[in-house]
Amino acid sequence: SGKARNKNSLQFYSQAIKDASLQVVAIEHDLRKAIENNEFELYLQPIIDLERNKILKAEALIRWNHPKKGLIFPDKFIPIAEKSELINTIGHWVINSVCLLLKKLSELDFKIKISINLCPTQVLEESLFSYIHRCIKKHKIDPSLLELEVTEGVLVHDYKIAERLLSKVRAIGMSVSVDDFGTGYSSLSYLKKLPLDFVKIDQSFVKDIVVDDNDKAIVRAVIAMAHNLNLGVTAEGVETKEQLSFLKDNACNSVQGYLFSHPVRFELFLELLQSKLNT
Ligand code: C2E
Ligand code: MG
Ligand code: MG
Ligand code: MG
Repeated sequence: SGKARNKNSLQFYSQAIKDASLQVVAIEHDLRKAIENNEFELYLQPIIDLERNKILKAEALIRWNHPKKGLIFPDKFIPIAEKSELINTIGHWVINSVCLLLKKLSELDFKIKISINLCPTQVLEESLFSYIHRCIKKHKIDPSLLELEVTEGVLVHDYKIAERLLSKVRAIGMSVSVDDFGTGYSSLSYLKKLPLDFVKIDQSFVKDIVVDDNDKAIVRAVIAMAHNLNLGVTAEGVETKEQLSFLKDNACNSVQGYLFSHPVRFELFLELLQSKLNT
């Protein structure tokens, strides 16, 4: 009967919700041990400067080598970490690890910038700047090689706090980019008021750029606007030569995507720097 079916599907759904929340609890539990067990790893994805045709920057993207579940991508655990103080612990690990990678790169005479993703909770953490500053001092890093990637939402909703952080990081020579640009908020006023350096056009606009006239128009407009505001433009998710040539024709400054390289381990990234892509 309908009633019985309803009851069954209710039981089904409540079981599914129980399973899902048990999974979240399990991940949260494992996350607490992941740092001391050295299970996180930073992959680097090259960002190619189109004027010089060289890798001048890389984005640091976290991966979790889980002892039982294998490789876990950030979308599966960063949102869970964000619900607790864990995100700040992980964030500090990322910042310190990026400084160590920058140190290794400079010892090998590579002058490459690395960008770090910050989620809103991290931007709001009061001690974030002093932690970054301490790492820079401790590892004797050139701050101009460090960039922060921040999404639009926190820039709009927590404007004052964001402004304070961004002013401080830029005062010591670091740079700032707006990540996933175009997916967050229709308000553009933060762009003219905040101290920023780059916008990263979200991959959802790049995906169909060759066939979709609306995406073409949006990307052209974003590039023109950014340049008028003295901001550089990076396109994310570039997978084909056709996308690349559209972006080149429209004066995009740099590109990132599978066409050039997936995010890779540090050792492989060093090989990319030495390969012909980079000469
Ligand atoms: P994001 O910052 O927008 O990073 C770009 C994502 O696009 C990465 O996914 C990257 O692997 C992927 N990607 C790069 N090129 C292509 C392409 O050509 N095609 C497609 N389809 N995808 C491409 P990933 O590594 O899974 O990271 C997902 C998100 O997790 C990141 O998005 C970022 O928001 C967050 N994240 C990653 N690492 C960290 C971290 O250390 N801290 C924080 N707070 N968030 C992080
Ligand atoms: Mg990013
Ligand atoms: Mg992005
Ligand atoms: Mg993204």
